Amino acid sequence: MMPLMRATNNPRRLNEVRVRVLDDPNINAANAGGGEFLVTTGLLQKANDEHLRGVLAHEIAHDDLGHVARAQTLGTGINIGVILLEQFFPGSSAVTPIAGALIANSYSRSEELEADRHGVEILRRAGYSKEVLIDTLTWLTKTAGGDRGGGFLSTHPATEERIDALRKSG
Ligand SMILES: [Zn+2]
Repeated sequence: MMPLMRATNNPRRLNEVRVRVLDDPNINAANAGGGEFLVTTGLLQKANDEHLRGVLAHEIAHDDLGHVARAQTLGTGINIGVILLEQFFPGSSAVTPIAGALIANSYSRSEELEADRHGVEILRRAGYSKEVLIDTLTWLTKTAGGDRGGGFLSTHPATEERIDALRKSG
């Protein structure tokens, strides 16, 4: 993770970065802002190193682009400190209960695509190719049994669309 953190536009000091592990069988990760990231035990158990690198590159990109701050100010009734948990699987659920609170994912479709693009940039600066993220998204799709769109995620880019966008990018 640290090579990726050093490749951001706004590198954080080592002592600013925290990774918390949530005991949750679902594959998920989140960027909590302030250099704090969350990963589920489900992700750690099922992902290989490359998939983990791809997931983290995407989350670090959200952080580097300031997406969390924007999402938090947009949320009504969401307390500061509440974690915005990212749903990697479109259609899996709009709201995730965690630690007794309800957390909404407020990333927009354009923010997701932007985080993918910037995640690739971070990967490249750290010496990896965009295939890391493409392979990660492909793995997520297979592991989730494909996209199941609908609900609030109708505005969320489908994983296939995100893969296409990455393939077409330079
Ligand atoms: Zn995202």
